[in-house]
Amino acid sequence: MTAATPSPENAPSESAAKSRAAASQGEAASSPSLKVLSDQETSAAAMAARKAQAAAEAENAIPEIGGAMVADPPLAPTPDFLAELKRESDALENETPQAILKWAVDRFAPKFTMATAFGPEGMTIIHMLAGIAPETPIFNLDTGYQFAETMELRERVREKYGVTVEYKYPDLTVEEFEAANHGPVYLTDPNRCCFERKLRVLHKAARGWHAWASAIRRDQSEDRAKAPIVGWDKKFQLVKISPLANWTKKDVWSLISKEGIPYNPLHDQGYPSIGCQPCTRSVLPGEDERSGRWSGFQKTECGLHSS
Ligand code: SF4
Repeated sequence: MTAATPSPENAPSESAAKSRAAASQGEAASSPSLKVLSDQETSAAAMAARKAQAAAEAENAIPEIGGAMVADPPLAPTPDFLAELKRESDALENETPQAILKWAVDRFAPKFTMATAFGPEGMTIIHMLAGIAPETPIFNLDTGYQFAETMELRERVREKYGVTVEYKYPDLTVEEFEAANHGPVYLTDPNRCCFERKLRVLHKAARGWHAWASAIRRDQSEDRAKAPIVGWDKKFQLVKISPLANWTKKDVWSLISKEGIPYNPLHDQGYPSIGCQPCTRSVLPGEDERSGRWSGFQKTECGLHSS
């Protein structure tokens, strides 16, 4: 079991280290039993802390090469392969999501997979895949903070489609993670919490596949508006297929209602977008549909779909 470490972007700055050192000197000065460190000792202690942190990060680092590049056989984004993906993406632009998924299965199975958070779009793709290729492996990142209603959807998928969505877990349990970080990290640094409990796990889960299905829609955000139907996912280093890229929210919900696709009951209780329980609130009529995610923080994405 390895200890959780801060993400590189959250490494403490020199000034933060200095102010902590200054604060601890102040505390030490008021306490007769503590020794005040000299400048030299303070800087040696800060250097030792930085070294220990770098060693911990190296142990847990996300390898530079992953995804399809370490598959058997490996798949690399050569110029020829990227040109092929572009041609295929253009040809699939006006196809139905089912036709896009069928193409993906024919082209990449058994190295084709899907990650889902059981949102309405993900449930729609699960429903389609159950009709096209029910053997497609599907997994969910179980951060340990998901709603019970979300976890129950896994059972409903198993009952309705006979498909078992596999859970992928972070190295540390919630209890271990919070104990190592003096409390819930989502309260103080949700970027780091998402990095440790989602992104790191997803990087690991992506290793060895050639392609995966994504449930994004282009009309969800500016970043997602540029998503091709088929493209190379630079962050996770495999082919990303977005069969619902051209669909609207209305298209998704029409199919859910027409086909009786299971969905999260929280959607009927004012939760248009559902993530982990501590970072999701219901929204008021007229509010943006993602305003209930990480409310109070300058954060709108967990980082899985941003480039
Ligand atoms: S959504 Fe919240 S609880 Fe879940 S991983 Fe991100 S910060 Fe942590």
